[in-house]
Amino acid sequence: MSSSKVNRRVGLVRTGNRDLMKEINLSIVLNLIRVQGPLSRTDIARLSGLSVGAVSGLTGELLASGFIREVGAGQSRNGRHPVLLALNPQAGFVVGIKLTEQSIVAAVTDLEAAVVHWRLEPENDLQNPEKAIAAIIRTVEAALKESAVPPSRVMGLGIALAGVIDSQDAVCYYSPILGWRQVQLAQPIEDRLHLPVYVENDVNTLTMAEQWFGAGRDFPHFLMVTIGRGIGMGVVANGQFYRGSIGGAGEFGHITLQPDGPRCGCGKSGCVEALAADPAIVRMARAAVESGKQTIMTQEARRTGQLTFDHVAQAANQGDKVAQEILAEAGRWLGLGLSHLVNLFNPQLIVLSGEGTRMGDARIESARQTMQEHIFDRLDGSIDLVVKPMGEEAWARGAACMVLGELFKHPINRDHRPGLPLGVA
Ligand SMILES: [Zn+2]
Repeated sequence: MSSSKVNRRVGLVRTGNRDLMKEINLSIVLNLIRVQGPLSRTDIARLSGLSVGAVSGLTGELLASGFIREVGAGQSRNGRHPVLLALNPQAGFVVGIKLTEQSIVAAVTDLEAAVVHWRLEPENDLQNPEKAIAAIIRTVEAALKESAVPPSRVMGLGIALAGVIDSQDAVCYYSPILGWRQVQLAQPIEDRLHLPVYVENDVNTLTMAEQWFGAGRDFPHFLMVTIGRGIGMGVVANGQFYRGSIGGAGEFGHITLQPDGPRCGCGKSGCVEALAADPAIVRMARAAVESGKQTIMTQEARRTGQLTFDHVAQAANQGDKVAQEILAEAGRWLGLGLSHLVNLFNPQLIVLSGEGTRMGDARIESARQTMQEHIFDRLDGSIDLVVKPMGEEAWARGAACMVLGELFKHPINRDHRPGLPLGVA
């Protein structure tokens, strides 16, 4: 494209849509302050390429709306001490909700994604969408009341759940754990709470949390892989979150590794999930106990009447060879799967998270080793595998981060759900 063409296009945008340009500039300034602040107005002009006059006007608006604040004086070479501007994290708050089969977790966070309050509500009727919606509304109201955040500062609600979600229309197409098909979640909740509501797959929201507020700030190419009852994945490539054509990208857990292997929850056989997730480990442990192998898990199963992933992980920690081998076997399958991801995506970083990373290090160590063995030669050495253990509130925080991400996103990239207050009326 010739340079005259480029200039003409920019000129058209400027004259044709002034409000959008202003909104874009506000967003650029706010994001510079958020990511690199505290900054002086001169710093912002230099980093953004905007004029000092334009920066003064834009920062004036952001100060008036409370999004940024003055935080004292900086240093400069000519002896002056320019006023520094920083994000005001308490200028707004968002709520994140994580739905599981039997609970709702809510987290209230500030603009820097710090959790100011969270609660876990056990619920038995979530399979019924109407009852689930009523329970979400109750939980959000209770969490906000307990957090003592003024209602006027609450900027949005994010809902995260496992399944295939159309985030644009806020519809859950299919959620196997809740048994939902075609559930419209946002509208009835928006009507009641008068907040913009965003809905997204739970692993995607964790990925966004990492992209906006975690390791992803420094890595434009990374994968988030979660292990637990299932195995999930989120993809960030070129700094952009990747959804696929209908929002179904990242079904890493259902890549077939062993076609004649164990049955998977998805109906196929030998998926990564069926070979390496927590239930696969429990299944292997039961088989070992039933076949009479020498293991302390046998006593544990007799004493408690059951065998869980935690039992296997604890037995392995105590030096039980059978438990260690089961974790290592699951880890080898996981690592084989991860090596495929590295070969496909060539990420700088894989973040491994989810409840399955709390314990059972033998699975992760063996996954790391197998992954290295199967990576294509030239990609080896450039990949970092970081383990980030997490609790229930981290899922809800991830849902909140989705709303924050939307707030800080470049205006033309925003999902067009109503009501986020930053921008030009
Ligand atoms: Zn499967």
